[in-house]
Amino acid sequence: MSLDILFILLLGLAIGSFLNVVIHRVPKGESVVFPSSHCPKCGVKLRFWHNIPVLSWLFLQGRCGFCNSKISVRYPIVESLTGAIFVVLYLKLGFTSQFLIMVSLFSTLLTLAVIDLEYRAVPDSLNLLALTLAIIHPLDLNLIFETLQNSLIFGGAFSFLRFYVSFFVGKEAMGEGDIMVAGTIGAILGIWTGTFAIFLSSILAIPVILLTKQREMPFIPFLALSLFIVYLFEKEVISFLNYLLY
Ligand SMILES: [Zn+2]
Repeated sequence: MSLDILFILLLGLAIGSFLNVVIHRVPKGESVVFPSSHCPKCGVKLRFWHNIPVLSWLFLQGRCGFCNSKISVRYPIVESLTGAIFVVLYLKLGFTSQFLIMVSLFSTLLTLAVIDLEYRAVPDSLNLLALTLAIIHPLDLNLIFETLQNSLIFGGAFSFLRFYVSFFVGKEAMGEGDIMVAGTIGAILGIWTGTFAIFLSSILAIPVILLTKQREMPFIPFLALSLFIVYLFEKEVISFLNYLLY
């Protein structure tokens, strides 16, 4: 592994460690800065060697170093995924302004996805951060007008869809948070590839819904994953769509 990739991986793991703090504290309205990391069970402040991403969890076999209570496997998973997101985006974009925007965006989306899985509701603060990053991502005023338009179309389409589905099933369908993530997808991918990503997210969700037999499935993880896949393979998706249409 070359040195720059190793550096990006370590950076991603460290950010992943911070995302775990965000996931643990933001839904409860706690500060992400103070107090410093502590065991959620016994409250003892972690030493720095308890704070090494992934390795500490493996070394302590998923338990707190003080009170031996179990530490969720979510911690090393979020850290590893963030590390992977950083490396993959670095390989695609290099160390550019787009890289910085996209790692911020996808780190935020990963955080939203995990919070949605755990709490079935996501904080607007993080969702608005993702949407804003997506709208400003071209860093060019003329293009930002277009990304804004696309996000409005997707947000609007999802809102209408929510009204229709809620009307027909007779209860509140889909989360409000999903609408904002749809707007984020529109801003990043545009109309056609964005529509493909939404379609892909339903395809990914169906087997999971069937297997887990959950009727109220959090949808943000599927939207975020589809956005990531389609963003990485945007060229391939566009040629595939062209092939289908013409
Ligand atoms: Zn403890």
